[in-house]
Amino acid sequence: MIEILNDAELARARDAGALVGDILQALKKRAVVGVNLLDLDRWTKQLIEDAGAVSCYVDYAPSFGRGPFGHYVCTAVNDAVLHGMPHDYALADGDLLTLDLAVTLRGISADAAISFIVGTARDPRDEAMIDTTERALAAAIAAARPGARIGDISDAIGTVLSAAGYPINLEFGGHGIGSTMHQDPHVANDGRPGRGYKLRPGLLLALEPWIMADTDELVTDADGWTLRSATGCRTAHTEHTIAITADGAEILTLPRN
Ligand code: MG
Repeated sequence: MIEILNDAELARARDAGALVGDILQALKKRAVVGVNLLDLDRWTKQLIEDAGAVSCYVDYAPSFGRGPFGHYVCTAVNDAVLHGMPHDYALADGDLLTLDLAVTLRGISADAAISFIVGTARDPRDEAMIDTTERALAAAIAAARPGARIGDISDAIGTVLSAAGYPINLEFGGHGIGSTMHQDPHVANDGRPGRGYKLRPGLLLALEPWIMADTDELVTDADGWTLRSATGCRTAHTEHTIAITADGAEILTLPRN
């Protein structure tokens, strides 16, 4: 199903998106050396509840995960990249942390992810990898104009990632979003321009370039959820929810401060 939001729904989507952006920034500030991933999860639960929103993750039980996720934020450290399940781990100096958050506020969902270095960056390749996902996301957003097609977005992402020399995994990518977190259309992180669904005002998309330094192969952690690089290499992931408008893409998940 592909949802097209009306103006009233779009206004709610802006509120949901800003909340996601705000919570991610608050978590980033708190994610210092020594902080436990379970504390980040607990703070996320509190921030979601304080805003009157609902977690998209806590009851999430798709075919690829083991039962309900049971947590409020994805915390992927170093070689973990997607669906990182919070666990008893204290952040160390130089960790590469990805936080991925989705909430529903007054019936509309928003989804975003940020990657950053905890404490002191130890390897310039980490920052280059994060920067590459951010540049790929910016290219994707620039390509997301009304009348363009999903393949144009995929091509924009894939072009940036490939030019930077990273292998691209096509198993997990971006997605439509609206009254639920994951909807059609799927937005692969590489593809052919001019192909796929034609973008229309009112369409919400979560765009999410992610990469692993030296592989396109994932392995599933013993927790049944966390996806890690098969080689143990580091990873990065950046995501925004956008709305297609008559003027182009509007980023919904920017923090308000
Ligand atoms: Mg997403």
